[in-house]
Amino acid sequence: VPEGHTLHRLARHLGAALVGHAVSASSPQGRFVDGAARIDGRTVARVSAYGKHLLVGFDGIAETLHVHLGLYGTFIGGALPAPPVRGALRLRLTTEEQWWDLRGPTACELLDPEAVARLLARLGPDPLARRPDGAAAIERLRRSRTPIGQALMDQAVVAGIGNVYRAELLFRHGVDPHRPAREVPAETLEAMWADLVRLMRAGVRAGRIVTTRPEHRSRRGTPRRDDAHYVYRRTGEPCRVCGEPVRTAELAARNVYWCATCQS
Ligand SMILES: [Zn+2]
Repeated sequence: VPEGHTLHRLARHLGAALVGHAVSASSPQGRFVDGAARIDGRTVARVSAYGKHLLVGFDGIAETLHVHLGLYGTFIGGALPAPPVRGALRLRLTTEEQWWDLRGPTACELLDPEAVARLLARLGPDPLARRPDGAAAIERLRRSRTPIGQALMDQAVVAGIGNVYRAELLFRHGVDPHRPAREVPAETLEAMWADLVRLMRAGVRAGRIVTTRPEHRSRRGTPRRDDAHYVYRRTGEPCRVCGEPVRTAELAARNVYWCATCQS
């Protein structure tokens, strides 16, 4: 499931591949035919990510391509020749060297500048922004009565967190996901924000989420998949720190995982 680090990493790769290049655009699936026609042949001017949103600007038109991958979307590419078109291919972009295929997004649309401004205004601070605004995020959390595990998933509070970072961040700071956000001490929120920025930047570099400290892993070296997380998807398995079984419950429409002993 793509979280903010995936989108920022994608923006870097897309930017390196597309900026300054003219793209051929098509929508083989047929659901973005007009939009693809509008950008076909244009030169990509910029690619950026904000939270889980990807924005692509083009020379010569005011509109921006907005992509949100949602839970199941993918946007992958490679060197030409492109693979045969099959399945629900929403958008294919090709340059003289590369192909990029977008499948299954929850949003693929052209937005005018006002709509882009509205989209960005709805989003909270992004930990992966060049100058992340932690004070604003903490202020929003301190005003919130909702459980911290729910508030963290609200993209208007923090943009880019998904289910893995939520569960792992709360574990690393010993915070019960069900505790009202405004009851979490300010110094804990500040430490959480700094940690989140670090973890997400590491996620961009590695292309995966690793939250465990070396002393809590079963093996040395590059962490294996089953050593990467403290609680996420470890229901019933022993906590890496105290040995109690990891619990799960639904919160903000997604399963949250936590240790009732370490996070009380
Ligand atoms: Zn524990």
